[in-house]
Amino acid sequence: MTNGQSTYSSSLEPVISLSNLHRIYHLAGEDIHAVNDVTLDVWPQHMTAIVGRSGSGKTTLLNLIAGLDMPTEGQVWVLGRNLGQMNERERLDLRLRRLGFIFQSFGLMPLLTARENVGVPLRMRAMDPHEREDRIDEALEWVGLSDRAHHRPYEMSGGEQQRVAIARALAEGPMLVLADEPTGQLDTRTGRRILDLLRRLVEERGVTLLVVTHDPQVMAEADIVHELQDGMLADTRVKEGVEMPGEELSRVRA
Ligand code: ADP
Ligand code: MG
Repeated sequence: MTNGQSTYSSSLEPVISLSNLHRIYHLAGEDIHAVNDVTLDVWPQHMTAIVGRSGSGKTTLLNLIAGLDMPTEGQVWVLGRNLGQMNERERLDLRLRRLGFIFQSFGLMPLLTARENVGVPLRMRAMDPHEREDRIDEALEWVGLSDRAHHRPYEMSGGEQQRVAIARALAEGPMLVLADEPTGQLDTRTGRRILDLLRRLVEERGVTLLVVTHDPQVMAEADIVHELQDGMLADTRVKEGVEMPGEELSRVRA
């Protein structure tokens, strides 16, 4: 596969493929091995969780997958493309067109309304205004916030703000959504509602969801859980009853 075109299509190809990934930070004469030899695949249309205590390398791993940071060693493939062989412009394009992001602190612009916030990534793509407005309406309706369209973040609850952030990710029509502690600032009940929406994103919209978390609720919901310890992959657990296409493939190949 060459770097130029994505040939990604198959539901049997991993959406993300990490091989022998390392990220070492050099800070004040000290080496911090934030990601240490991680190899894993993320399969399409599933909810995958990466868990681990604070400092275990979760955010570093997400940044590498998003192409926001480059590995010291190893490879990152996203949607059939090797990030290391793409230039900055191509990685930005991939982020804008194929990926959605959800953050612990919602990441909304404080002076913009819910509608305007949902429209931000679409504006960066210079999308036709009619299509943009349609997508915004549809996404806000999908998260149940049509009646909050003209509210600003400070006029909404934390749960509502996170639903705006989910609408923003959804409006982009992403194949892959990356979420960093999406329930981290919410109470258990609100977290549960956000988790239900994230699950529906996978089931109804065919999105592949990768969520970094230490919320036990999210871990229990995920189809597959990878645990990081000191930057290393320490454990992988597949939820009962969930079939990973990759397991089928490795059985066939073995
Ligand atoms: P987590 O998200 O699991 O809490 P991080 O990926 O943020 O963990 O951090 C992993 C390790 O790398 C930590 O020891 C952290 O202090 C260190 N680290 C993260 N970012 C940087 C950076 N930009 N420079 C130096 N060290 C960093
Ligand atoms: Mg983190």
